[in-house]
Amino acid sequence: MSALPQAPTADLPRGGLDPAARRAIVIGAGFGGLALAIRLQAAGVRTVLLEGRDKPGGRAYVYHDDGFTFDAGPTVITDPSCLEAVFNAAGRELSDYVELMPVSPFYRLAWEDGSQFDYVNDQAELERQIHLRNPDDVAGYRRFLAYSNAVLEEGYVKLGTVPFLSFRDMVRAGPALARLQAWRSVYGMVARFVKDEKLRQAFSFHSLLVGGNPFGTSSIYTLIHALERRWGVWFPRGGTGALVAGMARLFTDLGGELVCHAEVTAIDVAQGRATGVRLADGRTFAADMVASNADVVHTYAKLLGATDRGQREARRLRSKRFSMSLFVVHFGLRQPPTLPHHMVCFGPRYRALINEIFGGQSLSEDFSLYLHSPSTSDPSLAPPGCSAHYVLAPVPHLGNAAIDWSVEGPRYRDRILDYLEARYLPGLRANLVTSRIFTPADFQTELHAHLGSAFSLEPSLQQSAWFRPHNRDDEIPNLYIVGAGTHPGAGLPGVIGSAKATAGLMLAGEGA
Ligand SMILES: Cc1cc2nc3c(=O)[nH]c(=O)nc-3n(C[C@H](O)[C@H](O)[C@H](O)COP(=O)(O)OP(=O)(O)OC[C@H]3O[C@@H](n4cnc5c(N)ncnc54)[C@H](O)[C@@H]3O)c2cc1C
Repeated sequence: MSALPQAPTADLPRGGLDPAARRAIVIGAGFGGLALAIRLQAAGVRTVLLEGRDKPGGRAYVYHDDGFTFDAGPTVITDPSCLEAVFNAAGRELSDYVELMPVSPFYRLAWEDGSQFDYVNDQAELERQIHLRNPDDVAGYRRFLAYSNAVLEEGYVKLGTVPFLSFRDMVRAGPALARLQAWRSVYGMVARFVKDEKLRQAFSFHSLLVGGNPFGTSSIYTLIHALERRWGVWFPRGGTGALVAGMARLFTDLGGELVCHAEVTAIDVAQGRATGVRLADGRTFAADMVASNADVVHTYAKLLGATDRGQREARRLRSKRFSMSLFVVHFGLRQPPTLPHHMVCFGPRYRALINEIFGGQSLSEDFSLYLHSPSTSDPSLAPPGCSAHYVLAPVPHLGNAAIDWSVEGPRYRDRILDYLEARYLPGLRANLVTSRIFTPADFQTELHAHLGSAFSLEPSLQQSAWFRPHNRDDEIPNLYIVGAGTHPGAGLPGVIGSAKATAGLMLAGEGA
């Protein structure tokens, strides 16, 4: 391990506390935990990052099967500037650790009637395709983009890394939310601007990427469109796992201690303060401050389950709405890549299917899929002449649909692969080298995700900002939360933003 770094002066805490005299523990090495641990260590706080699994990444875990590299989760990397900021806080450059490659088209959107829409970052080309579908929607799209940009400024640039600790913070954001008509749904807002149903789908599906129902979640989440248009869509050379590895290396280069196979079973609390953690294997770690990147319900119900605070907060959180789950099939083919890197394959129904995904008690007959073909951008992810893929279907979480995934999983995989073979990947079965599945039950057992939710609390207006679990616990002043379950929410820009908000609080000291 290298020597402790010099603290960049910009990150020194107020109040004259020597950061090197403080020790922090971060539980969980998802993107939020990694980014927080880097920021703390870069500021001179001696930081230990404890990860329950054998390697960091969390939802961005990596599998290596038969010569194929499969990223488990995030593949659409947006707003690289938020990642740059993490490296810059440590006096480093992102490009020294990982190469980000631009992806174009951002996505190919495909429907069952054979129509396609290449969602690119070129206004003229976008407008050409919109014009083909409905000439009147060109002007509507321009107005939608202007709206989406305005939401991006308010909801992400201004508020994305601000901790909402008091209701006053929420009240301050109120006028902007009212001006932007945040009570409307994503789809409802898109529908005000464009008339063609497929274009409405093309510009409203994005909230699904952070676990939000386009028909229920606030139009604030249309900001994802502007975010992609402003900063592009990127993919790390070597896969998202290369970005995880780069961040883990940065953390240890700074002198931070990353401990894997470190399943935390309890956060110790004495006299109202967190004093350290205990692991399943009996090891203990003492600390002056503790942050959890683990699932928020798991954090309160299990890790703080011995405390009154933990039990009360877990009860409150269980009454919230949680985002849907995902069913993922990773598969490798003995055929070169033929598809764009990112595809969304819409099924026959949109609104009705989404309602069933968010509220249904069983699996729908049809599905809409996200199909990932990373070998198109980076052939190194598959053996020569082969291609790596994953396909995911949004599905109800376990609280809505108590499906036995050990039985249904293999059946569902076969249905999805048959569908892909018939429409997008001819010869799939004959060329299948390897496959694995990840089900809602795996989200629950492997990641401790409440109800197997893929994105934690659903991002509705009633569960955003101050209404989400706070970056600092309301009662235990040196206990902090980071990641998808807190403000601003799921997705890489969200959890990286939450790390900045939480680091700011931890470095400023308690009560700040
Ligand atoms: C299939 C899929 C695809 C996605 N695609 C995208 C995308 O393209 N773009 C995008 O921006 N976002 C995407 N997302 C969302 C994004 O991946 C997540 O919101 C984000 O990675 C969550 O990060 P996190 O910091 O909340 O931590 P998590 O990734 O949830 O990690 C939490 C970590 O805590 C560890 N942990 C839990 N409990 C304990 C314990 N008791 N002790 C020790 N460790 C513990 C876990 O093992 C895990 O490593 C996707 C998500 C999924 C599931």
